[in-house]
Amino acid sequence: MAPKRDYYEVLGVGRDASQDDIKKAFRQLAFKYHPDRNKEPGAEEKFKEISEAYAILSDPEKRKLYDAYGFEGIEGRYTQEDIFNRARFRDIFSEFGFNFEDLFERFFGGGFGGFGFQEVRTGPPRGRSLETEIEITLEQAAFGTEMEISLPRLRRCSRCGGSGAEPGNGLIKCPVCNGAGRIQQKMTSGFAQFIRVMPCNRCNGRGEIPKTVCRVCGGEGLENTKSRFQVKVPPGIDDGEYLVLRGQGEDGPYGGPPGDLYVTVRVKPHPKFIRRGLDLIYETNINVAKAALGAFITIPTLKGEKMIKIDPGTQSGTIIRLKGEGINRSRERGDLLIHINVLIPQKLSKRQRELFEQLAKEFEAEETPKKRFHDYK
Ligand SMILES: [Zn+2]
Ligand SMILES: [Zn+2]
Repeated sequence: MAPKRDYYEVLGVGRDASQDDIKKAFRQLAFKYHPDRNKEPGAEEKFKEISEAYAILSDPEKRKLYDAYGFEGIEGRYTQEDIFNRARFRDIFSEFGFNFEDLFERFFGGGFGGFGFQEVRTGPPRGRSLETEIEITLEQAAFGTEMEISLPRLRRCSRCGGSGAEPGNGLIKCPVCNGAGRIQQKMTSGFAQFIRVMPCNRCNGRGEIPKTVCRVCGGEGLENTKSRFQVKVPPGIDDGEYLVLRGQGEDGPYGGPPGDLYVTVRVKPHPKFIRRGLDLIYETNINVAKAALGAFITIPTLKGEKMIKIDPGTQSGTIIRLKGEGINRSRERGDLLIHINVLIPQKLSKRQRELFEQLAKEFEAEETPKKRFHDYK
């Protein structure tokens, strides 16, 4: 991301500009770079940049913070929603005759993603998020299951409880950042000056340090553990989906909040069923006699074997749908689709050959062809 330009520079006004000067400057630039009027590449970016500068400098409180601390004064304190206050921008834009809703959606929609603000976290860093995989059967995926998993992860030190201080000795204010947890670094790029804010590296963002470091964790507040815990897999989950266990990742150092645990679910291929969404497919073969005469056959379902009826005259490729016998997921219910293949025998015993020949004669007598083969010529 390109470094941000100083807001005063963006609007082309001096640091002592009055609210009127700022408004005038913004009005001029907003008309110039309004994306409906200016089709030059970069006009949109420019429009965003001046809108952001105006959002800060037109608000006395935010301007004061910006003057004192630079971008840091704003980022640490406000959410983007606070900065681009909808109501305030509606007034500003409608005053200029711009279609506010349209612009707002175009630039500020999608969670204000259009702007260059990053949330600057204060306090000690968050722990790492972890990933792991579990493998379950199709039956477990269908009905849900509970699994015990174990994985190595850093958790809060058992001696100091994560503070990093020897029990009984406590924490003192960090002498480097004076308790703020952050330090500022001035940077210049061309004419622009930026202030970069980083977590204090003495206290790692916490603002305090242990008087005496914990002798188990050496002050980091973390300990290697082999954690075992239960994972609840909800019914209906599909291969490749994952579960998020909030706060079950590693604990953060220096008492920081924990990361999350992502558990990817792998569903083993089933020897009998193929899954298609919530439906299950089962393929079965029947012999030609059963297809002609009809029959009862036994098929597997997720809940055990079941007898189904094959109608006389069933063709190969017929699909029999068993409603609700597939995978159920919250209120949705999948079906079990039985694909019927009719097998034409490739090898016949002597007796079978005789029977088929007899059958062939019967069929021929029955057929009274209207046209003979040579009639088609
Ligand atoms: Zn410790
Ligand atoms: Zn510090």
